[in-house]
Formats: sequence, structure tokens, C-alpha cells
Amino acid sequence: MKQRVLVWLCALTVAVPFFSQAQQLNVYSARKEALIKPILDKFAEQNDVQINLITGGADTLISRIQREGELSPADVLFTTDVGRLVRAKQAGITDPYVSTELQKHIPANLRDAEHHWFALTRRARTIMYVPERVDPDSLSRLEDLNKPEWQGRLCIRSSSNIYNQSMVATLLAQLGSDATQQWANQFVNAFARPPKGGDRDQIRAVVAGQCDVAIANTYYLAGMLTDSDPATREIAKQVKVLWPNQQDRGTHVNISGTAIIKGAPNKAIAQALLDYMVSEEAQSWYAETNGEYPVREGVAWSQVLTDMGQFKAENVPLEMVGELNEEALKIMDRAGWK
Ligand code: FE
Repeated sequence: MKQRVLVWLCALTVAVPFFSQAQQLNVYSARKEALIKPILDKFAEQNDVQINLITGGADTLISRIQREGELSPADVLFTTDVGRLVRAKQAGITDPYVSTELQKHIPANLRDAEHHWFALTRRARTIMYVPERVDPDSLSRLEDLNKPEWQGRLCIRSSSNIYNQSMVATLLAQLGSDATQQWANQFVNAFARPPKGGDRDQIRAVVAGQCDVAIANTYYLAGMLTDSDPATREIAKQVKVLWPNQQDRGTHVNISGTAIIKGAPNKAIAQALLDYMVSEEAQSWYAETNGEYPVREGVAWSQVLTDMGQFKAENVPLEMVGELNEEALKIMDRAGWK
């Protein structure tokens, strides 16, 4: 009898595990929790996965994964700016993922040719102005800011900011070293003040009259226009967006993106998450929440971005931008861009 009970118990153990352990996925994100967790939760629910989310600065997360080495629990990295995605690849912490879904929905210039990183949203770096003080017809190219009439009228953040480094790197990719250095040497004369603060600070400074134009990413203005603070919304409403270089190379565009971590312990689920991130559902939510543009064609833009208008974007293979980062920084330094 005893034996029979034992056999029966064993059979039960095989058929019904004592506890069912959900699959795990470890996500390292340089995007703030509120800007990514809801969409991860949706994926987790649909796929019965438990997602462990760690957030932090992009460079901090990249060094952490490097330090953790082969023991790293990291499966996926989310970050902004192609400069950082290229850094992650160069640091040897990413693995390629060849996916028909990602190739179908992400334009070729917005993903790594060797499949190491992928853009999930696009962001545009524009000129912003107050119409009372600036005639938009007098300014159609980034290069126009080098003309004498723009001296001392521009607010822009410092050269340590990766958005500016990437903007200069795309110029390098398109104009070459000499022309970009010449441009940078002149460009600093347009500065109204030594660079300081973030993009929102530049927008505020324009409205406060400390400068007439600012260079900023549109999602910052989108964020201010939808801010819970009415005073911030009032400031943002006074600012208009000017799309530079529409007649030639297009406005500078950067990305937010993702990569699978080398030796990811949960690779199959990590890959499924990346595929999910280009689904219409994820693209729509992620882009809208971050005030950015979806990479997938046919996914509607948020109302606030739609109101800022359509534009022609730069068409530079973004991996070049990451690779030219160091040279861009040297050019900015030589030009005296603090
Ligand atoms: Fe930003």
C-alpha cells in the first residue's frame, strides 16, 4: 500500500509541478520607468513572463553590463541616442538578432547593418523660436545661423550633450571634416550665452528673451505642451518649430532604440520582446508616451507632434553617427563649443 501511494505521488509530481515558475526577462533601461514599464507589463501579461526592470543612466548601465561580464543577468537594453547604442556594440556587450519583423518595420538607416541594435522611435532636433522676434523665412538652414545677423542670438546646450554630438556627427557624415569644422567655428558665434542646462531650459530661455532661437528636440516641446503645470504649457505655447534644411539634406533625426545583450540568459523571450516593440500596439503607445515619432510606417503620430507639422528627415545611416562621435567631439572642442 505504502509503495502504491509513493508511485501515485511521484506521478502527480511529474504531471503537476509544485509551483509553476514564470519565465523571467531582465530589462536594463535608460528610459524612465513611467516611459517604458506599462508596455513591458503588457508584453509580460500576454506572454506570461516576469519582467525585472532596472533603470539608470545609459552609460552607467553599459558599464554595469561590461562589469557583470558573462554573469550579467541582462537580456535587453533600452536607451536613447544612436551614439549610445553604437557604444554598447563597440563595448562588445550586444548580440545580433536577425529578425524579419524588425527588418520589415524599421527602415534600414535606423538599424545596425549587423543587427546589433534597432531604433524604436525617431526624434527630431529642430530650431525653435518666438514668432514676434523671428521671421521664419529668414532661417531655413542650420547653416543660416552662421550669418552675421544671428550672432549672439542662439541658446543651445553644451558639447558634452550627446544630442549635439550626434547632430555634428551627421554633418560630418554629409559634409566631411573640413566643411564641418568651418561650420562649427562660425556656429559658436551665434551663441547668446555659454551653453548650460537641458533642451527644456533652452526653450524657456527663448521665451524669457535671453535668446531668439534655440535648438531642441521636439519631444521636449511636446512634453511642455502637455505638462500638468499650466505655467509650463503657457511657455510652450509661445514657441514655434522651424524645420531646418527642408530644401536639402533634411532635419537632423536621432533615435531611441534597443539591443539584445550578449549571452542573454533569456534570449528567446528577449527576441520576442523586440519583435513586439515594432507591433502597431507597442509603436503607437511607446512613441506617444515619449513624445517621439514611431519608426514603423503607418502608425499615427501623437496629436501634439502632428500639430508641429510634417518634415523631411536626414537620411544618414545612423551607425555612421555613432562611429563619428569622437571626431565630432574634437571638432566642437576646437571650435570652442563649451
Ligand atoms: Fe532627452
